[in-house]
Amino acid sequence: MTGLSEHDLDIRRRAREFTDTLIPYEVEAELAGGTLPAETTERFHQAALDSGLYATNIPESVGGRGFTSLQQVLVQEQVGRVTNGLAWCLHTPPQWWVEVATDEQLERWLRPAAAGHRHECYAITEEHAGSDVSDLATTARLDPTGSTGEPEYVVNGVKWHVTSYNLADYCFVQAVLTDGEHAGEHVLLVVDLPTSGIEVVRTPAYSHNIADHHPIVSFTDVRIPATQLVGQEGQGMTFTQDWFRFERVMVAARCVGAASRLLDEMTTFAGERVVGGQRLGDYQLVTAMLADSAAELYAARAALYETARAIDAGEDRKVLHARASMVKLLCSELAGRVADRAVQVFGGRGYMRENVAERMFRELRVERIWEGASEIQRVIVGQQLLRRGTAAVLGEG
Ligand SMILES: Cc1cc2nc3c(=O)[nH]c(=O)nc-3n(C[C@H](O)[C@H](O)[C@H](O)COP(=O)(O)OP(=O)(O)OC[C@H]3O[C@@H](n4cnc5c(N)ncnc54)[C@H](O)[C@@H]3O)c2cc1C
Repeated sequence: MTGLSEHDLDIRRRAREFTDTLIPYEVEAELAGGTLPAETTERFHQAALDSGLYATNIPESVGGRGFTSLQQVLVQEQVGRVTNGLAWCLHTPPQWWVEVATDEQLERWLRPAAAGHRHECYAITEEHAGSDVSDLATTARLDPTGSTGEPEYVVNGVKWHVTSYNLADYCFVQAVLTDGEHAGEHVLLVVDLPTSGIEVVRTPAYSHNIADHHPIVSFTDVRIPATQLVGQEGQGMTFTQDWFRFERVMVAARCVGAASRLLDEMTTFAGERVVGGQRLGDYQLVTAMLADSAAELYAARAALYETARAIDAGEDRKVLHARASMVKLLCSELAGRVADRAVQVFGGRGYMRENVAERMFRELRVERIWEGASEIQRVIVGQQLLRRGTAAVLGEG
């Protein structure tokens, strides 16, 4: 691939080799509701740590791999080739925290997370606040003397879709301040799990079958020491925006990886399957599905790598925000179209859960919803075009 250094290519090769070892376990995971035997999961976790591809987004000074954005994309692209979330073991801890973590936060959560000993989850979304997180109802009230004589925030509210809550041992919770100078603004707090007052309301079933659940979680008079405030009061939204900018590019990378695997699999099938006396791939209506997928994938991957390079070049954050939205939109919509075509090319086999196209068809649907639905990405891009002009957003300068 043009423009990748030997080091980049080596990272991509190692990520590919690692994820190839996970693929044989997909059907077992799918049929077991997403969860593999504990010893298998532990083996994958250890192998992920040994691979040198864990915490690629965290600087080496904090115990991570300090990869460039392009290198992170190369790894996450391979992660996206695997279904049932099996490659989530190549975890990316909260890199946005590095700049603002206090010494206590660094030692207690961030370093252990980078080393693979701790695992986070995010409690941001609520029943009535998803796309518009500025509309949160969960509250945080500062009690200056707390239950221990030290200041504590008292948190109350109910969070939805808290991914990985069942596997995490700490949680970020975003809430609205009730009092003080920053009343009405947001705080982000970190809290260990379990903590008194944090309870699962229920664990709904979702389209995909993965080990990480997405329960609805209630916070009732949860007391969180003020030292567990991330950054400053009023900065809660800033971190959410930083997270979005990073994660949207990584969603795009995983979607490109998924589309790439699907194209491989459906091309192989179309080359071998004989229908009506000729290869499936020789029917031009089928060829068109392969060709459209290849052309769209080629373009989406180029845009993705270009965006990662712009991040590495330190371009303007607002412009990068729009580019992250563009590639998230482009790659997630592309992956959805490719998965739909893959099911069609596989025919009846494509509707069987043991077939990768069927699993991807379900799993990829959420990529157009989480980390901001496609409509939200369009709104962001449109606003940036009006504010900054097309040349800035498209990097034509
Ligand atoms: C599997 C899964 C895992 C998740 N994990 C987490 C997690 O770990 N932590 C967390 O906090 N959240 C999580 N989420 C929540 C996720 O981020 C939200 O579902 C998402 O942001 C959309 O919010 P919503 O579901 O409330 O949809 P709504 O905000 O109700 O929007 C519904 C639809 O309306 C449209 N829409 C909304 N606003 C606009 C607009 N301004 N213009 C045009 N159209 C619009 C879009 O099509 C959107 O899909 C997860 C969700 C899922 C499904």
